[in-house]
Amino acid sequence: MDASQADLRELYQEVIFDHNRNPRNFRRLEDATHYALGHNPLCGDKLTVYLKVVDDIIQEASFLGEGCAISTASASLMTEAVKGLTLDEFEKLYGEVHQLLTENHPDHDMGKLEVLSGVREFPARVKCASLAWHTTHNAVNQLSETAQTE
Ligand code: ZN
Repeated sequence: MDASQADLRELYQEVIFDHNRNPRNFRRLEDATHYALGHNPLCGDKLTVYLKVVDDIIQEASFLGEGCAISTASASLMTEAVKGLTLDEFEKLYGEVHQLLTENHPDHDMGKLEVLSGVREFPARVKCASLAWHTTHNAVNQLSETAQTE
């Protein structure tokens, strides 16, 4: 690994650490229009995502739950990234985050979400990082069942 990769890895770890210690939008949304539960039994991560959607635009997003640093940081980053997106734009971003975590990098810069690409080195953690995004996808689509719930 060259120096710039080491710097990048350090930056990613700092962002994950910061969002885990001080998660953004970590609360229930009293006027949520959509919500869903998510559970990653491999790690024990559990969370609830709340969305306030008006005219197909995500006005607010928040979450509550308990999980490892990566699941918490990813959920925190998600609540910031989806605010202001239309539901269609969210679905596009959801697909891109999946790419970022598993396969090929999307052909454009993903901004703050780039930090999530760091988990590709730890395959067991991919489900931790993707949990908040799957859960939000279910909330957006108002699916009554999540992939894994209590
Ligand atoms: Zn986890």
